[in-house]
Amino acid sequence: MFTHDVIVIGGGLAGMRAAIESSKYGDTAIISRVHPLRSHSGAAQGGINAALANAEGGRDDNWEKHAYDTIKGSDFLADQDAVEVLTKEAPKRIIEMEHRGCPFSRTDEGKIAQRPFGGAGYPRTCYAADKTGHYLLVTAYEQVVKRKIKVYEEWFATSLVVDEGVARGVVALDLLTGQLETFKAKAVILATGGAGWTYAKSTNSMINTGGGMAIAYKAGVALKDMEFVQFHPTALYPTCILITEGARGEGGFLVNSEGERFMQRYAPKALELAPRDVVSRSIQTEIDQGRGVKGAFIHLDLRHLGKEKILSRLPGIRDIAIEFAGIDPINEPIPIQPAQHYTMGGVDCNAKCETMIKGLYAAGECACVSVHGANRLGGNSLLETLVFGKIAGEQAGTCAKNTPQDGSNDELFKRALTLEQDHIRHFLEGSGDEDASALREEMRSTMAEKVFLFRTRQQLDEAFEKVRELKKRFNHLRPVAGHRICNLDLIRALELEDMLTISEVIVASALGREESRGSHVRLDFPKRDDNRFLKHTLAHNTADRPRIEYSAVTITKFQPEERTY
Ligand SMILES: Cc1cc2nc3c(=O)[nH]c(=O)nc-3n(C[C@H](O)[C@H](O)[C@H](O)COP(=O)(O)OP(=O)(O)OC[C@H]3O[C@@H](n4cnc5c(N)ncnc54)[C@H](O)[C@@H]3O)c2cc1C
Repeated sequence: MFTHDVIVIGGGLAGMRAAIESSKYGDTAIISRVHPLRSHSGAAQGGINAALANAEGGRDDNWEKHAYDTIKGSDFLADQDAVEVLTKEAPKRIIEMEHRGCPFSRTDEGKIAQRPFGGAGYPRTCYAADKTGHYLLVTAYEQVVKRKIKVYEEWFATSLVVDEGVARGVVALDLLTGQLETFKAKAVILATGGAGWTYAKSTNSMINTGGGMAIAYKAGVALKDMEFVQFHPTALYPTCILITEGARGEGGFLVNSEGERFMQRYAPKALELAPRDVVSRSIQTEIDQGRGVKGAFIHLDLRHLGKEKILSRLPGIRDIAIEFAGIDPINEPIPIQPAQHYTMGGVDCNAKCETMIKGLYAAGECACVSVHGANRLGGNSLLETLVFGKIAGEQAGTCAKNTPQDGSNDELFKRALTLEQDHIRHFLEGSGDEDASALREEMRSTMAEKVFLFRTRQQLDEAFEKVRELKKRFNHLRPVAGHRICNLDLIRALELEDMLTISEVIVASALGREESRGSHVRLDFPKRDDNRFLKHTLAHNTADRPRIEYSAVTITKFQPEERTY
């Protein structure tokens, strides 16, 4: 057994920011299934929001305007007290990263440069060319190394150890040896990222399998607002690699097969810079109504920006288009389509990152604080990782400092270890004949076909039945071949179990919400219904299907209004 004051599960931006903070209070360790620098935060391209008021046309920006844009973008489902924390803290977190060495792009005056992003009234997205996540991640990792924070890299957390409503530690699998170990801690932070891989069409990498959400749910914490899945408007066709919103922020146009800039019809004022839910639906409508190029995609045209701007502001996007579509955006438009991008819902927690389990905190994409509500604005997620990563670290560190060392619960850890050993043995020695990779693809295509941009009860019912059928078949997997060392098939089976759990929760939550709000559009309930559904969905684990309950949305300053752009 390993012992630390604070264990952070996840080595992405949220996890590292949390660990940097909690290490001020006590001995902190990070458990991560990949090296921290391979975490998905590194894929973030376009930027991070803060009302710095550095850009031309944005000099009178302030945190309240950022808060209003975020709340309107969320279709009024975000908790306004949490949004206030996010937007007030934003400038401090950005300047902190600047001082720690993050090479942000600059204005002519030498200030941090800011570009326009969707749904934002001002240019407030700070960026480092189109590789912002990479630079932030490296900057955070340097701080982790400097502080000598222990990183258990290539360890996969499988469950939490909880005793009478208090988090006591974690069970994790060492991927290199295949051995399970227990970790004792006075506080645990979940920072495991999103669950994008549940969808066949996704901009996410294959490590985004919702692990932290699943282990919290199994331990009794509700998953909040999971029906709100963000579909990004501009994923490269057909691979779904992200083409950043920064491309539209820099002035890119969306054009249909008739050469028309069609956003005029859907968002006459904001055009291409309407929020993602609006732009994705507009693109899908154009394709569905026969105005897609080759019936399948839309063009993102950057040619009018000119070579110099594309090379200086969007070099990574140009490389992606050349490498993966054989298209140089300097000379040709980029083929794009909407794809799953972000998990707005997550582990239910408050603005202090506290969950209902004492000593268990959550931050980053795996958490639902909630600052994104029904639709996240681009650039607010990287911000969430830094703001709430710090808060989670502070809270967990303080909790650990105030918790006396408990040497009495070794039996608890033995039991938790035995349970997980039996669980793993079930995969290695099973006697069924179901193929995990086939089940995974059936699940991913079901989610992409039936739980996508436009939803109906019938489609959701079908998806729910399908996911439950897959869960049953999952109990009859063919035994995982080979030994325990670096056994990727074993990991794929564990991930699939998590993703089936998450998919079931997404569909059950979507079925319960009989209205259209933000990213969740029910064709059978096309209007937002504040009377019935201005509330958060809470999905609880039971022996059978998820139990759905609701909780109030915190409204402080901004009353819900019609959302037009
Ligand atoms: C292509 C792309 C571009 C994006 N661009 C932007 C952008 O420009 N601006 C913006 O604001 N947002 C952007 N986002 C969203 C943003 O990048 C993410 O939401 C954010 O970086 C998530 O950070 P995180 O720390 O919560 O999770 P991650 O960075 O995903 O890290 C998760 C960590 O958890 C670990 N982990 C997971 N499960 C386990 C387990 N069971 N056991 C142990 N470890 C585990 C992983 O190893 C990893 O270290 C983008 C997203 C994508 C997909």
